Amino acid sequence: MTTPLPRVFLQHGRDRRVVEGHPWAYSNEIRMDAETKALPPGTVVTLHRVDGKPLGIGSFNPHALISFRLFDRDPRATIDEGFFVCRLRRALDLRRRFFDRPFYRVIHAEADALPGLIADLFGDVVVLQLNTAGMESLTPTLLAALDETLAPEAIVLRNDSRMRASEGLGSEVVVAKGQVGETIEVREGDLVFAADVVSGQKTGWYFDQRENRAVVSPLAAGGRMLVVFFFSGGFAVLAACRGAIEVVGLDSSEAALGLARRAAKINRVDDICQFRRADAFEELQRLAKTGERFQVVVADPPPFVKSRKELGSGLKGYRKLARLAATLVEPGGFLFVASCSHNVEPGPFAAEVVKGLAAAGRTGRIVRSAGAGPDHPIHTHLPETAYLKSLLVHVD
Ligand code: SAH
Repeated sequence: MTTPLPRVFLQHGRDRRVVEGHPWAYSNEIRMDAETKALPPGTVVTLHRVDGKPLGIGSFNPHALISFRLFDRDPRATIDEGFFVCRLRRALDLRRRFFDRPFYRVIHAEADALPGLIADLFGDVVVLQLNTAGMESLTPTLLAALDETLAPEAIVLRNDSRMRASEGLGSEVVVAKGQVGETIEVREGDLVFAADVVSGQKTGWYFDQRENRAVVSPLAAGGRMLVVFFFSGGFAVLAACRGAIEVVGLDSSEAALGLARRAAKINRVDDICQFRRADAFEELQRLAKTGERFQVVVADPPPFVKSRKELGSGLKGYRKLARLAATLVEPGGFLFVASCSHNVEPGPFAAEVVKGLAAAGRTGRIVRSAGAGPDHPIHTHLPETAYLKSLLVHVD
């Protein structure tokens, strides 16, 4: 006999969203009696309606705004190695339908029914972000399941995301299995890039822009491309390999400079790529004055809106970026602008890009609006998991 799990109750009338398929319950929807409040963060619990009817099993953190995160609608499910193996296999099956090589996001948190978990696969290396107390407390079980499904040579825990603080978790990076070099290889199509999975941004590589890179970078063939915020050189090096005559990149990070230069060298396009360390806004302003123009301008900035409070100023940031970038596009060229801010919806983002284009005194047409690829699925009830938005504009 296993001991029954602690039971957590929703307040009266607060069950509809969960019943309809939403995977969270907020702290103000839960009956926070003394016993519930005393549950250690990350406890696996069953969630119930006031009348006792069970709604599912999940992890609970009484101190987090999103207190309950659903693992399974079946309250009798066991959250053990077998559970993680099932979820991992389903997620892998999905990715393998789209990608030939093991370089992609394997687990995209709630959308893959593993709340709080991000897992990126770099060949034999798995990089994890455990973003909730619930997922953190299940680390040993998860690692065992990863060994069973993927048998990776190395596992890195990038437990340094901003989200962890809201769960009361500390910040650390741990190599939980094997060893990883200063940089590891990322394969995208026929190209090889370098990622720093231990200290690079996020998990070390932005798999989410893969499809956008594949569409946008070849548009620079025969011309010049400007990549603002180049990070590890994804857009830039691909453009150089697909026939761009010159690629100029701007990024404020010294580490990014090293990674991008390395990628250009590996792919033998270091004579075409010119990466510069600069503040994007300052350098865009300067370039506009010089009269320089590019066939394609790519602007993929860090999130301007990290919380709802920053929405107004962040939206203005996207408008300004679109204005400055549009100014530098030669007639008949393309402008690509992206936003990875969870708090910015596609409509307002597009509105700011359009305003920026107009403020630059330019006209054009949107030829593509796209998010991340299929390795970043969207939870049916969490539209904010579609965090990446991008527009490709053909500029007159
Ligand atoms: N396009 C990249 C991801 C961009 S990440 C890819 O597909 O891989 C955002 C980048 O913006 C980071 O590399 C960061 O160093 C850079 N950055 C942040 N603030 C900046 C600023 N003010 N000026 C220039 N670069 C900046």
